[in-house]
Amino acid sequence: MKVVLAILYEGGQAAKEEPRLLGTVENKLGIAEWLTSQGHELIGKVSSSKEGPDSDFQKHIVDAEVLITTPFHPGYLTRDLIEKAKNLKLCITAGVGSDHIDLNAAVDHRIQVLEVSGSNVVSVAEHVVMSILLLVRNFVPAHEMIERGDWQVSDIARNAFDLEGKVVGTIGAGRIGYRVLQRLVPFDTKELLYYDYAPLPAAAAEAVKARRVEDLKAYLQCDVVTVNCPLHEGTRGLVNEELLKHFKKGAWLVNTARGAICDKDAVAAALKSGQLSGYSGNIIGDVWNVQPAPKDHVWRTVKNPLGGGNGMVPHYSGTTLDAQARYANGAKSILENYLLNKPQDPQNIIVGIGKYESKAYGQR
Ligand code: NAD
Repeated sequence: MKVVLAILYEGGQAAKEEPRLLGTVENKLGIAEWLTSQGHELIGKVSSSKEGPDSDFQKHIVDAEVLITTPFHPGYLTRDLIEKAKNLKLCITAGVGSDHIDLNAAVDHRIQVLEVSGSNVVSVAEHVVMSILLLVRNFVPAHEMIERGDWQVSDIARNAFDLEGKVVGTIGAGRIGYRVLQRLVPFDTKELLYYDYAPLPAAAAEAVKARRVEDLKAYLQCDVVTVNCPLHEGTRGLVNEELLKHFKKGAWLVNTARGAICDKDAVAAALKSGQLSGYSGNIIGDVWNVQPAPKDHVWRTVKNPLGGGNGMVPHYSGTTLDAQARYANGAKSILENYLLNKPQDPQNIIVGIGKYESKAYGQR
């Protein structure tokens, strides 16, 4: 009998009413009955309690052989915890992005880390395009004005533009970054750029007419920058005060990848000063590596000098109901393969036994 620990979030009333909210404690990724019928134990109740030594996460990780968690409410598996987790063999990320696990420690302790690659990349790419449009077109303050009962078109139009003719650059052109580029083609931008140590295949770059830049400072030409790379040692704090100085004045920045890729205070200061016209994305983790973000997180409320430019939302871009069906199914098949000793789909393996299998978590 294998002991499986799942850290998911409390879905509350919504999860009771909507069974397709699979990533919740209430609906247990749809795997609870199946797992019990296979003779395995899903520890205690699946839990959302994950912070501090008395949390279910830290108590049960000591015995668990498999950990399942989602990037939306991640159990942060530090090196210290890995050292206590003597039985742990497999971490499954129900979704995409495994930075909540100390991957180097997982390599050292021969713990495999798998994610459901591709499961929510369309969901995120759509959110990125939506966020770019809502910033460039100054949508949020326009809607807030309507709710307030006001009507002053010039206050909105003074900072509203078309996306057509702008330069857009993505940091990271993997599954999500490339899908963003594909979706931007019909907008007739002036140019699409990408920055990634892994060049796109020539035919793929040609299909979207994207030009690779080798120095991020070239992003000075970008009107819009979108962040679509994983969080790892090479990307933590990548968009910082120094880099932001090299952005075009008044650029829009969209980060749906991981909060900690952008320096929290530097981004807030750049938005406040007008160096950035807008910042949008999910509040995902942050420099203190916690999610949910604290109530006083500066990204919740910071605005540009004209009172707009904030498109932040909680971390939901990759957890639409469509995405949840895909990542819940994917997590179940990873678990099933593990339990039946069947081979895993290679594209899902981030860390194999004792080594990185994915090339996306930094150049080594
Ligand atoms: P992917 O592995 O297909 O692509 C990642 C790309 O980033 C790769 O091409 C890689 O070479 C590139 N990269 C890595 N380090 C880089 C660096 N220093 N500079 C530039 N490029 C770099 O992954 P994906 O499916 O496109 O997902 C990317 C990330 O998006 C995930 O790791 C995750 O953190 C985030 N994500 C967020 C959500 C959400 O709900 N907001 C959902 C899914 C994924």
